[in-house]
Amino acid sequence: MKTIRLHPGKERSLLRRHPWIFASAVAKGSADSGETVRVQADDGRFLAWAAYSPTSQIRLRVWSFDEAQRIDAGFFATRLSQAIARRTSLGLDLTACRLVHGESDGLPGCIIDRYADIAVLQAGSAGIERHKPALLQALRSLLPQVRIYERSDAAVRGREGLAASSGWLHGAGPTQVEIREHGLRLLVDVASGHKTGFYLDQRDARGLFASVVRDHGVQRVLNCFCYTGGFTLAALAGGAQHVVSVDSSAAALELAARHVTLNGFDPARTTFVDADVNATLRRLREGGEQFDAIVLDPPKFASSAQQVERAARAYKDINRLAWHLLPPGGWLFTFSCSGGISAELFQKIVAAAAVDAAADAQIVARTGAGADHPLTLHFPEGDYLKGLLLRKR
Ligand code: SAH
Repeated sequence: MKTIRLHPGKERSLLRRHPWIFASAVAKGSADSGETVRVQADDGRFLAWAAYSPTSQIRLRVWSFDEAQRIDAGFFATRLSQAIARRTSLGLDLTACRLVHGESDGLPGCIIDRYADIAVLQAGSAGIERHKPALLQALRSLLPQVRIYERSDAAVRGREGLAASSGWLHGAGPTQVEIREHGLRLLVDVASGHKTGFYLDQRDARGLFASVVRDHGVQRVLNCFCYTGGFTLAALAGGAQHVVSVDSSAAALELAARHVTLNGFDPARTTFVDADVNATLRRLREGGEQFDAIVLDPPKFASSAQQVERAARAYKDINRLAWHLLPPGGWLFTFSCSGGISAELFQKIVAAAAVDAAADAQIVARTGAGADHPLTLHFPEGDYLKGLLLRKR
């Protein structure tokens, strides 16, 4: 077993049980990609077992802080079964659910989403890549009926020195399956969809939106960055008269339109716009349009700390434009999924946008990812998704 020694004082974050060690903290030692190493303090004290990643700035990701723990196939099987058991105990529907949420489930870099009979694995760290066979074996024995598809094509793979990799790992056949969310039917294509196929993290927010629409008799809805229409369906289910949905992906819009009829809603209640959201918001404003509720669920505008400033401007722009399209009493449900933008900063951005649009609003709810995307006390980076449900005064 190889040993990595940290610079004096650099053990502090590990003592707080944060699972990452950056390259600059390492004083001595190296290992192969994904290899398990013993991490010790400058004075030789054991700190953790971790996976080594030679090319990433996040040089070490912790598997365990317990010196007696062996990082073997049994370890991965235990972590996986614990993750699934936690979700079962919460009463989550495991057929449309994130089964493993990386660091927060003790498996840094590992995402496993399940859609109907397909489990989708995203290996986002050198350690997970190396232990993929053990994880697969564990997944197959815990969920013998599921097919397993790999979607390890996220940008983080490059930083970890890993090439993109996608395709069947177990089983074969159609990559499109049907899931249910709040009783609505949704098609998910695990091969061509975004991320692992669908944005499971917004399930609770979509449910909340449906009830706002229902309880407040919301009629005209604008759903920006609609993807395959999750919030569109929520609005229709809530009784909205008309929903305008905007996205720049033709394939996503095609599926969104299919979802409308699949769920028995009248397509005349919907308009789909294949265009840039910013440009569309400006056009709607010039046309004097108004909406009773607007959803802004953009992609990650900041994927690194350096991009935060530019991202903040982009968030402010779309939020300002949205405020202009809302009458008094109108609803804005606005989100950021950029890890680098804190909840506090996001609220400031949305507030500044409101000031520019001469709008005032109340915060009716703050939302985050659902219970299948758990947060742990020691890993604040896991808190990436922030939502503000606001009502214009
Ligand atoms: N709200 C969705 C998820 C949104 S993901 C849901 O509940 O499922 C972000 C979406 O923004 C993607 O579908 C992407 O195609 C779209 N997108 C990214 N940049 C865009 C832009 N500039 N204009 C319009 N859509 C954009």
